[in-house]
Amino acid sequence: MSTQATQSGNHAFQAEIEQLLDLVIHSLYTHKEIFLRELVSNASDALDKLRVAALQDASLLPAGEELSIRIEVDEKQRIVRVIDNGIGMTAAEVVENLGTIARSGTKRFLDQLKSSGGTELPRLIGQFGVGFYASFMVAREVVVETRKAGAPGATRWRSSGRGGFAIEPCERAERGTSIELHLADAEEGPQGTLEDFAQPWRLREIVKRYSDFVEYPIRMLAEGKSGEWETVNVQKPLWARPKSEIKPDEYEEFYKSFTGEFEAPLETVHLSAEGGAVWQALLFVPRSRPYDAMHALQQKSQLHLYVKRVHIAQNCEELIPLWLRFVRGLVDSDDLPLNISRETLQHDRNLKPIRSRITRKLLDALDKLRESRPADYAVFWREHGAVLKEGIWHDDSFREDILKVASWSTTHGDGTTTLAAYVERMPAAQKAIYVLLASGDLDARAAASSPHLEACRKKGFEVLLLTDPVDEFVLLKLTEHAGKPVQRLDRGVLDLDDADREAREQQEKAHARLIEDVQGTLKGRVESVRLSSRLVDSPAVLAESEGGLSPHLERMMRQSGQSVPERKRVLELNPSHPVVQRLAALREQGGEPFERAVELVHGLAAISDGQAPSDPQRFAKALSELLARG
Ligand code: ADP
Repeated sequence: MSTQATQSGNHAFQAEIEQLLDLVIHSLYTHKEIFLRELVSNASDALDKLRVAALQDASLLPAGEELSIRIEVDEKQRIVRVIDNGIGMTAAEVVENLGTIARSGTKRFLDQLKSSGGTELPRLIGQFGVGFYASFMVAREVVVETRKAGAPGATRWRSSGRGGFAIEPCERAERGTSIELHLADAEEGPQGTLEDFAQPWRLREIVKRYSDFVEYPIRMLAEGKSGEWETVNVQKPLWARPKSEIKPDEYEEFYKSFTGEFEAPLETVHLSAEGGAVWQALLFVPRSRPYDAMHALQQKSQLHLYVKRVHIAQNCEELIPLWLRFVRGLVDSDDLPLNISRETLQHDRNLKPIRSRITRKLLDALDKLRESRPADYAVFWREHGAVLKEGIWHDDSFREDILKVASWSTTHGDGTTTLAAYVERMPAAQKAIYVLLASGDLDARAAASSPHLEACRKKGFEVLLLTDPVDEFVLLKLTEHAGKPVQRLDRGVLDLDDADREAREQQEKAHARLIEDVQGTLKGRVESVRLSSRLVDSPAVLAESEGGLSPHLERMMRQSGQSVPERKRVLELNPSHPVVQRLAALREQGGEPFERAVELVHGLAAISDGQAPSDPQRFAKALSELLARG
């Protein structure tokens, strides 16, 4: 018995596909017309695959035979067919491809959809596409007939999207695949208002909108002229045309059809090779962050690689550094072989110069965006800044260029500032660039009122407020800039100048016993106690110990299930604050009132920094005792 015969009959869909179909069929999704984009794109992929296979085995593609996609419409029966003479599928491939999750994208789509509670369906369909299954947004039944190139026998697959699918052998003279959609009636659609797609003019419009640049001719019967086929797409890929001839809205249309996004991109960069190589790149900076940009598993390049107009690979990480993974688009090279494999890509010498030129040009474009379109830059930075900043840590060769584009919240004004602008504003008396790595979950606004800032504020020194988890890594590489040291306000001993240091040292001598007794009372809960010159209005603050684990790192380690040593911080007291002076007086008496006061000061220091007191119970008890005593 042939494998084909054993596979005939009814099959169940994989559970995930059932789920997906359920969503697709019942979705309120308004852009149902994308079903055609998905089918045409599958057809085009199948033609690409045939072309590549024919490089190995010329008999698969007889000379002179044209590769094309046909769209047939039967208006009366309400049937639409998308037909290609591409690679086709064997029976086993049909079962595998049209019944299980053939691609990781589908699984990710479902996960994302679940985590967004279903509300993000339209954007997710746009971003991921649901591929072949989009057919069921418009069809009550789908019939696939396919014959694999170079193989005998053809297979028919049939499903209504519910209760699995059936397959059987069938007759089919030509190589390739036909996808036949029996369109649902308007009232059959769950929403009752399904658009009528069995209209040639409408299908033509959809092809123009989404599939204009597909490299193969997409043919439909010419209207009014019986039996004559005409090509409805322009085919010529936008990126291969001279820049000077392309209008801005053509880029925008291309971007939308290429990415499935509905908003215009923030920035477009169209490049071609210089020197001996031949390649083009068309790159876009989207207006919003892709789903899960920060998630480790999804840290992939978004660039597609084409070789001589044929799509070769997506997520091509050889083309662009990961810290530019928000960039969408493609590179088309004439210098690579069509049948290049993933493995050989990694070692190909052609890609390196492309990558560095793309990187440089993108950074130039972003810097220009910052200078000339501040509002768009602010959007860019909000959406993609955190990813871009990873490059400061990862990429020595581009660090300075990224720093030109990067900006941070600041105590100077509401917006963000670049390091260069900060340095320019520094008064002569200011020796260092001051930054506050906001601990806990402080946002910029909350960080701006942190007690760590008091001394700087009094002296009129500006402070950068670093609120992104990635900033911590940035700081590891950013120890100085423009000849000025970068000084964290939340760790280490901070003296803004020599006078500050001398005053603090004197006070430390005078208060040696107070420091000792506070430390004794908080034994094991703080790393040490010292006096501070960073405080003006607050009695106390908790500083990170030099070289200690920061709150962000600690949280990241906890989240990844690692055990984290308990983090002890340094309690700094403000000797000129009345509360600390009172503490000194209480110390003379000793006993419970002193211990309670130490407890309260320690807890308040944590709270003013956006943290919980290290021992909330004890803190609450001390506070209520204090209140009870009036
Ligand atoms: P995707 O196209 O993103 O991989 P789909 O769900 O649209 O996902 O299709 C699943 C698989 O079915 C494809 O990867 C491909 O192997 C196969 N397939 C779909 N349409 C065709 C076609 N017209 N010709 C050949 N194979 C196809």
